[in-house]
Amino acid sequence: MQGENILETRNLTKEFKGFIAVKDVNLQVRRGSIHALIGPNGAGKTTVFNLLTKFLIPSGGQILFNGNDITRVKPADIARRGLVRSFQISAVFPHLTCLENVRVALQKRLRGDSFDFWRSETTLRALDGQADDLLDQVNLAAYRDIPAVELPYGRKRALEIATTLALEPELMLLDEPMAGMGHEDIDHTAALIRKVSADRTILMVEHNLSVVSDLSDKITVLRRGEILAEGPYAVVSKDPQVMEAYMGT
Ligand code: ADP
Repeated sequence: MQGENILETRNLTKEFKGFIAVKDVNLQVRRGSIHALIGPNGAGKTTVFNLLTKFLIPSGGQILFNGNDITRVKPADIARRGLVRSFQISAVFPHLTCLENVRVALQKRLRGDSFDFWRSETTLRALDGQADDLLDQVNLAAYRDIPAVELPYGRKRALEIATTLALEPELMLLDEPMAGMGHEDIDHTAALIRKVSADRTILMVEHNLSVVSDLSDKITVLRRGEILAEGPYAVVSKDPQVMEAYMGT
């Protein structure tokens, strides 16, 4: 079960009414790595993420997670298996404090659907301890009792990472983690991604190529639904086909 690749796709394909958005994609994501999925607009990156998290049903091919075929596993079971997508799946409740947001995520993981579970003081105190640890990990301890809505943008993303970590992902999918950020937030978020990657695998879609080159062990470049090039940044960035794709031709 603990193979070299945590995630693999085999000939993953998605067709929308005759239009092939993703075609025979064979991804290999190494356990413990930071892997970036890049490509020009319309390349199929979002569709691949939606296929991996089961928002979309593949037209063909297979998805293997930890060696198990999850192609037909229901979306709700994916997170339980350890594949969690941040920024879209992990809702942050604007009027709850940072601590409460992380606590809700922890409760979700523990499937506390009984009334007693939710109201027990002992349970809440135990969860607060774990929530504080998570806030600490993402450098949000000072914002513990601040409602999410009042956080600066970059800190909100850190909170989203904390709520995702609460679900104990083995593989974390990050959707454009740097979108809309200034230099300072980008630096903080990059450091945070590097830190959380110490204990898990990260697959991210990111447009900021300097972040991608800085963080990624491996890059897969998609164009028009197909893999155009793969490898470390130093290699793919010199690939003439990749340069051409980025020139928009
Ligand atoms: P990227 O994330 O790389 O910009 P997408 O995965 O969003 O690319 O889109 C890949 C291609 O698939 C695009 O041409 C897009 O128009 C098309 N596409 C995506 N979703 C749908 C859909 N639900 N129906 C039809 N076409 C779609």
